[in-house]
Amino acid sequence: MTSLAALPWWQDLTPRQIERLAAADGVAVLPLAAIEQHGEHLPLSTDLDIGLGLLQAALPRLRTGLPLCVLPPLAVGLSLEHRGFTGTLSLSPETALATLAELGDSVARAGIRRLVLFNSHGGNKALLDLAALKLRAAHRMLVVRANYFRFAPPIDALPAAELRHGLHGGALETAMMLHLAPHKVRVEAIDTFPSLGQTMAAQGRTLAPEGEAGFAWMAEDLNPGGATGDARLADAALGARLVGHFASVLARVIEDACDFDLAVLDGAGGVGRTPA
Ligand SMILES: [Zn+2]
Repeated sequence: MTSLAALPWWQDLTPRQIERLAAADGVAVLPLAAIEQHGEHLPLSTDLDIGLGLLQAALPRLRTGLPLCVLPPLAVGLSLEHRGFTGTLSLSPETALATLAELGDSVARAGIRRLVLFNSHGGNKALLDLAALKLRAAHRMLVVRANYFRFAPPIDALPAAELRHGLHGGALETAMMLHLAPHKVRVEAIDTFPSLGQTMAAQGRTLAPEGEAGFAWMAEDLNPGGATGDARLADAALGARLVGHFASVLARVIEDACDFDLAVLDGAGGVGRTPA
């Protein structure tokens, strides 16, 4: 259902048009995703489909005239935790960080000072943190770390336990895929995929895969099938609600990036600067 041709792609512009975007103090959005296993019910492209689907849905929610372009997506990310499963593509952490930082350098060189890293894959979180800091240290530019799965979900959309443990191929991702790309979902393979995290929580352990004290995990540590969560809770209506919600938050993030006072980054004590 997503018409990707409708996105305002960076690569569709000419040098002069990019210069105009920079002169208009525009925002560049870089979608970051993964090509990795999501169990047998979802395709390898799940994170890419969700990321681009959310971006597509965010566009009509933006105020009109906002100067914006979308960089070519970094489809392959950091997926070491899924490399035990056939089909997963992954960069090394070093290569992924260098790639992201070098793309950001290119954007800065074009005179664009507002960059939104929009990420749809949990395994890329640390990468965004490091790349954003590297870019900020090197350039007086705003680099936003926007991970949609860190946006507060709509109230009562899913049980708290599913939101906590359904990290991968669970109800959340399956529902959005049933809405965005239903032809790619193998509904006969939809099931519940209990996570080691649930077992540990039931035992009252302090440690959890993504808890206050987390630990590094490979997907097969959490569930031998590679997915976690109860995908049976997913349906297309829930997916539509989730996509609409996350897209609205993303639109606000992009507008805030557009309105951010860049004087703060010039060390000029701009409005909004937090006193040390
Ligand atoms: Zn995913």
